[in-house]
Amino acid sequence: MKENEYLQQVANLAGLRHYPQQGPWNKKSGSAVGTRDNYVTAIGFSQKGRTAVLVILLRFKKLEQPEQVKSALKSAAIKKGKLGAIGSNFVRWEWTYAFAKPKAEEVAKLVEDLRAAIKPVTTPFDGRCEQCASTSINSLTLLNGMPMFICATCQEKVRHELNQAAVNYEAITPNYPNGVVLGLGAAAVGGLAWGLIAYAINYIFLYGAILIGIMVATSVIKGTGKVTRFGQIIIPILTVASVLFGDAIFYTLIVMKHEHVAFSGKLLNAVVVHLWQIEMQGSGVLSLLFGLVGAGYSLYSARKPKFQAVFQPLGAPNA
Ligand SMILES: [Zn+2]
Repeated sequence: MKENEYLQQVANLAGLRHYPQQGPWNKKSGSAVGTRDNYVTAIGFSQKGRTAVLVILLRFKKLEQPEQVKSALKSAAIKKGKLGAIGSNFVRWEWTYAFAKPKAEEVAKLVEDLRAAIKPVTTPFDGRCEQCASTSINSLTLLNGMPMFICATCQEKVRHELNQAAVNYEAITPNYPNGVVLGLGAAAVGGLAWGLIAYAINYIFLYGAILIGIMVATSVIKGTGKVTRFGQIIIPILTVASVLFGDAIFYTLIVMKHEHVAFSGKLLNAVVVHLWQIEMQGSGVLSLLFGLVGAGYSLYSARKPKFQAVFQPLGAPNA
């Protein structure tokens, strides 16, 4: 049986409604959602690696001690499926199966058993918003797929709080000169340290290049105040320059040691002129790549925070 038909059947038996494309599991078949005895109930399909899982979610009023729910379920000794997770206001029960889906009748029975088991230690909803506990509300709303009782005012509040981070980020005026100064400083210090350390241990430590990338990117972003197109351009350039600068120092020191010559501008110049040839023979290209990986990582982690709260009325997947 197809997932859609199956969920329709389970919904009928369990006193819920089937909502294709909606619910917490992000699948086309959606989920069976509704309230029974004022417990919010959702049933749908999920995937655990390669195993198919039928998931049952029961939600209740926020609890102080969710451990009680766990022991209540344990003493109920339910045979089908097993406990997936417990939160302060939900229980997730998972039924993994290999080929045939569990019988719809058995699923409906399991939902009854689960609810009976947690009833003594939980409080069902009471027709009021679960956030403010004052506004009366009788229809479920999905918050990023999760069915809940939440009033319009509280939805706005949640949306506002979650979006504030993105709004704040947007409001930062980038300080480019500051970014350049800090970036150049980090590139110079990083390159010098890279060259000196390589000379000291007589070996170019590749992971050091990742650190340089992170250092340069973090400094530019700190100076600028946020990730900008400008930063995305100068960070890779400064990172590459810093690694090359470090290599030039390293090779100059090596030549000074082996040839017993003193440091001179002429020597440094000779190394810089031949740097690309030297790099091609060693791990130069690789260290540049490692540096860029570090820079990319920092750019990625400092990116603009995403908007996170999506509210959707049940039964209107495109709203
Ligand atoms: Zn509210």
